[in-house]
Amino acid sequence: MKASELPLARTLELGRLRVHALEAGIQWLDGGAMFGVVPRPLWEKKIPPDERHRIPLALRCLLVETPNALVLVDSGVGNKEGEKFRDIYGIDNEGSPTRLEDAIRSVGFAPGDVDLVVGTHLHFDHGGGSTRLGEDGGIVPSFPNARYVFQKGELAFAQSPNERVRASYMSKNFLPLVEAGLVDTVDGPDELVEGISLLPTPGHTPFHQSVVLDGQGVKAVFLADLCPTSAHLPLPWIMGYDLEPLVTLETKRVLWERIQEEEWILIFQHDAREPWGRMALEDGKVLLNRID
Ligand SMILES: [Zn+2]
Repeated sequence: MKASELPLARTLELGRLRVHALEAGIQWLDGGAMFGVVPRPLWEKKIPPDERHRIPLALRCLLVETPNALVLVDSGVGNKEGEKFRDIYGIDNEGSPTRLEDAIRSVGFAPGDVDLVVGTHLHFDHGGGSTRLGEDGGIVPSFPNARYVFQKGELAFAQSPNERVRASYMSKNFLPLVEAGLVDTVDGPDELVEGISLLPTPGHTPFHQSVVLDGQGVKAVFLADLCPTSAHLPLPWIMGYDLEPLVTLETKRVLWERIQEEEWILIFQHDAREPWGRMALEDGKVLLNRID
């Protein structure tokens, strides 16, 4: 699967919000790590692996037009990584400078138009595109006029990574922003701007957050790594990467109830086939109903 097989952008009208799902590229991660304790014969039916045991994952970001601000949620991998890294993770995100910026332009905006960049967490495949290699080889903010918003705990956690998580947090993805005074932190749930709120969904990392979009009458949630693909909808289908899988389990249990009660739209970050849908229950199994 190639990034070019996905449309640069798909748009969902959500009341007063216009939500663009931007395809920032594809990455390939180990299938076993993506599905934790789920045996391969089960997960490979959902997403078949390549000969290196990796599965294709989207690097989907959101660009949300609200009455008061243009908000980008997550920023993909970016352009700062070398060939070896790009090969290991199967990164396919070339553009000008990356496919994310191409996708932003495809819906009529420029990187300089973005007012706020929200990070669900600071792993390289979610926050790597917040900074980029400039012409002189230095690292510069990718969205020059934006404030960057992170959970306070996630930013602290990313700056003192232990051996288990070190490969995922690279300081070049966020320290230049902190040093330039471009970062604002929030501590817990928060209304970012009218129509967009930040919802802590811990488990993948201790301070991971999802983003709730309130279109007045219809709500959607960008789940990020709480539930990276529609295959991860069943409660025990939890990534091996998660630092606190039992916390993920309880986060999912509580949120799934609310999603069903209020009929929220789900938006997946890493599902290469389904950007969004609605949760359905069939014989006690959680499934996805497609929406157009
Ligand atoms: Zn992650």
